[in-house]
Amino acid sequence: MFTNVISFSREPHASVPSASGNLPELKSQIVHRAKELGFDSCRVAHCSPPPHAAEFRSWLAEGAAGEMEWLHRGAEKRCDPQQVLPGARSVIVLALNYWQGAPDAEIDTTAIGRIARYAWGDDYHDLMLGKLRQLDEFLVSCGGTQKCYVDTGPMLERDHAAEAGVGWHGKSTMLVDQQLGTWFFLAEILTTLELTPDTPQAARCGSCTRCITACPTGAITEAHRLDARRCISYLTIESKGSIPLALRPLIGDRIYGCDTCLDVCPWNRFAAVSREAAFAARPATAAMQLRDYLALDAAAFRTLFRGSPIKRIKRRGLLRNVCVALGNVGTEEDLPALERARRDAEPLIAEHAAWAIDQIRGRIGTASVAFS
Ligand code: SF4
Ligand code: SF4
Repeated sequence: MFTNVISFSREPHASVPSASGNLPELKSQIVHRAKELGFDSCRVAHCSPPPHAAEFRSWLAEGAAGEMEWLHRGAEKRCDPQQVLPGARSVIVLALNYWQGAPDAEIDTTAIGRIARYAWGDDYHDLMLGKLRQLDEFLVSCGGTQKCYVDTGPMLERDHAAEAGVGWHGKSTMLVDQQLGTWFFLAEILTTLELTPDTPQAARCGSCTRCITACPTGAITEAHRLDARRCISYLTIESKGSIPLALRPLIGDRIYGCDTCLDVCPWNRFAAVSREAAFAARPATAAMQLRDYLALDAAAFRTLFRGSPIKRIKRRGLLRNVCVALGNVGTEEDLPALERARRDAEPLIAEHAAWAIDQIRGRIGTASVAFS
């Protein structure tokens, strides 16, 4: 859900005439180029302070960001785009669909675990950054200076996206778009070019509360309010330490992220399969048994997840998560692998493996009593 900042900027070429004298034509060229590059949506917002800056500050003050200290460090920039790029006039917001279609209902995920769809294939940062660079080159040729971000620049990106009309703020806190549903990545280009802004979409959640009801951990505490400390995406990706005991059983068989609040959103019935082959599930991990992850040493982990978003939580993070999943859904057959993991040199893995063994033994004991 949260990743590293990727940014770059360039000075305009003096020899290229500025196109800022014809705003509608320049904007339509940008949109055309963005579509050529494969983006599914490209819209523009006026560069102004994000509307939810005050809510963001109070969310941070409550401690709802958990261990994500970087959100505190960049808070003032996030609330003021002029601190990110002085002279910025417009925000170009781009969306890229990553939906891979419904999972095969026949697959039993209790043996293989669940990975959030956005992480099934290649890392979207690398792919989108390449596309942004090409768009940036065009904007430079038009006389603009840009800052380009994929996912986590110091910007309240969903605010700018909603202002541009790339979806509305869903009650899940995710953006929802009438055409794309919720399965899309965001990127932003802050530019000094003055572009005609688009209009926001009307919010269309209506009386629906499916995402709030379906959240396994109660992380969506009310409409538009997420307590990251309870969110499985945070617990399995952002949190670096021990997962709280009370929350472990609620994680189920998820080993990287969580899609539940997206799966239930009725607007996803319109989602089309992504055109990006890079986002397709990797065969090596699509059907990997949960216990087999525990056999990965550091080198094997790096090889398996090269170019994948999952590499960022490192071996210790993934194996910690696998132990939690096995504690929830594992069987007697998983105990030998967990016993080995309990002796792992990494204390975080060893502790979660010991917990998982206790959980499985507790279930086996219960089953034995029930059948005796
Ligand atoms: S990602 Fe999962 S845990 Fe987080 S808010 Fe959505 S449903 Fe809840
Ligand atoms: S599940 Fe319902 S309430 Fe939640 S974001 Fe989707 S439409 Fe809105």
